[in-house]
Order: sequence, then C-alpha cells, then structure tokens
Amino acid sequence: MALRKIRIAGAGPSGLSAAINLAKAGFEVEVFEAARDCGHRFGGDLQALENWSRRENVLEDLKGMNIDVNFDCDPFSKITLATEKELSDVRFNEDLFYLVKRGAVKGSLDQGLKEQAVDSGVKINFNSSVPRDGADIIATGPVSREVMGIDRGVVFETGMDDIAVGLLDNDAAYKGYSYLLVTNGYGCMCTVLLDKFENVNKCFQTTETIFKKHFDFNIRNPKPVGGVGSFSVKGDFKLNGKFFAGEAAGVQDFLWGFGIRNAIASGHLAARSFIENTDYQAVAKSYFENRLKASAVNRFLWEILLGSKFLNNWAINKIGKVKTEKILDMLYKTHNSYSKLIFPVAIRHLGKRYKTLR
Ligand SMILES: Cc1cc2nc3c(=O)[nH]c(=O)nc-3n(C[C@H](O)[C@H](O)[C@H](O)COP(=O)(O)OP(=O)(O)OC[C@H]3O[C@@H](n4cnc5c(N)ncnc54)[C@H](O)[C@@H]3O)c2cc1C
Repeated sequence: MALRKIRIAGAGPSGLSAAINLAKAGFEVEVFEAARDCGHRFGGDLQALENWSRRENVLEDLKGMNIDVNFDCDPFSKITLATEKELSDVRFNEDLFYLVKRGAVKGSLDQGLKEQAVDSGVKINFNSSVPRDGADIIATGPVSREVMGIDRGVVFETGMDDIAVGLLDNDAAYKGYSYLLVTNGYGCMCTVLLDKFENVNKCFQTTETIFKKHFDFNIRNPKPVGGVGSFSVKGDFKLNGKFFAGEAAGVQDFLWGFGIRNAIASGHLAARSFIENTDYQAVAKSYFENRLKASAVNRFLWEILLGSKFLNNWAINKIGKVKTEKILDMLYKTHNSYSKLIFPVAIRHLGKRYKTLR
C-alpha cells in the first residue's frame, strides 16, 4: 500500500498508540483532539495499567507495540482487600499492576504518549474535532449510549505510605468496587458503580467513611475526579471504511473497566493493518472478541456472586488463601468451554440493562 496521510480522531491512549506506530512506519499522521491537551478527560487520577489479563508483562507488551515507558509508572505486587469490617493483604509473585497518572499533568501516561507521538513526527491539532467521515481511525473514547460504569472520587496529596486497597461493599459501590491508591505522597480514592448510577455521591460518602475507619487518613488539596466507561461485545472494529480503536470500539474490560492496555493494543493493531494492508476487522476480532466475551461472563458472575456482604466477606477470606494468580488466569483466559456455556445467560441478564448487548 502506498504511504499516505492518516487522520486520527482522538488523542487518548488508543489514538496515540496508532499515531506513534504509523509515524514510525513512515506515514504522515495528523491527530485531531477535541480537548485542549492530551488527557483532558481526567484530572490527575491514578489508574492501574493491569498486568493480569495476558501472560506477557504489560511493560514488555508496550515495548513490542513501540511504546516507551516515559511516564510515571509504579509497580504494585500487593493489594489490600477490604470490607466494612476487615482488611486482608494479598501478595503476588509478580507485579499485579503499574500505577499511572492520567490527565494533562506532569508525568502522566497521556503526556508521555503525547511526547512520543510528537517526537515521532505526529501533528496533533488540539481544540479540534474532525467529522467522523473525515478520519481514518476513530479513537474518541466512550460511547455514551453504552455506559457500563461510573467512577467518582478525589485525588489528593498525603503523608500516607504507598498502598492499593480494593473495597467490596454494595453500599460503597453498587455492584462495583471502591479503591484507595497512594504512591509517592499522591493518592486517589474512588467508587465505581456498575449499576444504579444515581447513587454515586451517596456511595462515595460511604466509601470515604469506611476507608477512614480503616486508615489514618491525611488528605491535602483534594480535587474531584471521575467519569464513565463504555463497553461492547459486538466487535465493530471497521464501519463504513473507518477503523475504530479503544473505547470507541468497546474494547473495555466489562468486569472492572480496565481499558488502557486494550486501548493501546487496539491502536497498535489498527496501525499495523494500515502498514501491512491487512484486514483490521478480522485481526482485531481475533485479538479481542473472546476476551471481551469472557469479560462479560466474568461481570455476570461477579454481579450474582458478589452481591451480598456475606459473600464478599467469604470471597475476601478465600482469596487471601487461594493461589490468586490462578483465579486471574482463569478469569481472563480466552472464552473457554465454561464461559462459552455461561455467555448466553450472561448476555440475557446484562442485556436487560445494556441495550447494545441484546
Ligand atoms: C474514572 C476512570 C477510571 C479508570 N480507571 C482505569 C484503570 O485503573 N485502568 C484501566 O486500564 N482503565 C481505566 N479506565 C479506562 C481507561 O481510562 C480507558 O479505557 C482509556 O482511557 C481508553 O482510551 P481511549 O483512547 O479509547 O479513549 P480516551 O482516553 O477517552 O481518549 C479519547 C480522546 O478522544 C477525544 N475526543 C472525543 N471525541 C472527539 C472528537 N469528536 N474529535 C476529536 N477528539 C475527540 C477525547 O477528548 C479524548 O482525549 C478508567 C476510566 C475512568 C473513566
């Protein structure tokens, strides 16, 4: 294929991953970003670059996708699971995730990717959206009609030690989870609701109350953060000749909403399809489809099994003792026979709330 100019809508992780790869392969790349800087969707949130959904270490994975780690990236191999009453530490043999900052702030993933894109020769136009039919790659983030989760919280400065805590409590995070993350004197406390989004403020208050009960809190300069996530298992990676990447293609993990790794991977695949002139729809479907289906099954099981305080307490007690890597491996293995069996039931159940799953 003759090298040509590629226009990308959206300068998030998926759009910039595509842009960096295309520019490095010699394409002329122009990115159109609606906001005034990269990462504007976030306010300095701490997010987890997960290292559990694939066998390869995520940082090696990024290297293989031509993405350098030029952003703050702190490994965590221990998490603390909390209920209203109990705390239980779970240690892993490997790094479970890497904490990264999101937003138009120093050291963030977004600013790091922007720098790599610009250094590779990508032209980014800020405050500028292209009409959809004017872009080759649509990487514009969540699709509002498919909202699958809502996140609300604060970031803050603190004297607390580094910690990663996940709280399971329906009053604090309906069908979801709350988290407290601290690294290098910087913290983020949030609640993630997977249903009954109207309760998000009340849930956040409960989250704060429970964390304050467990930890000696000291918070300075709190700033509100939060947002929504979207998901789809339909797998429309190519529509009317346009490539879709990241959350715009619905490649968000349906269980807990972790999407950065998938976003970067889908941008990379979109770029490779242009570079190698391959069928993006087929390549992306084979990479993502079974995993997204498995994540819908995981979400269904999570909702029905972890709905009560009793079960949450039981699960936390168990998880501390069982080989946790094995659980994660099982959850994220591609659509295996058990998840294939459950998938239709999961979709019927979740389809009552998510029209696009029907
Ligand atoms: C509060 C919160 C916490 C999260 N925590 C985690 C986490 O811990 N770990 C994890 O892996 N994932 C997490 N996620 C999900 C993760 O942030 C996303 O999956 C990821 O950012 C998706 O990348 P993307 O490139 O698809 O979209 P985005 O990051 O949303 O980037 C899309 C970009 O497109 C721009 N844009 C939108 N419309 C247009 C247009 N018409 N024209 C031009 N530009 C446009 C937007 O301004 C934006 O910059 C979280 C999400 C939220 C909301």
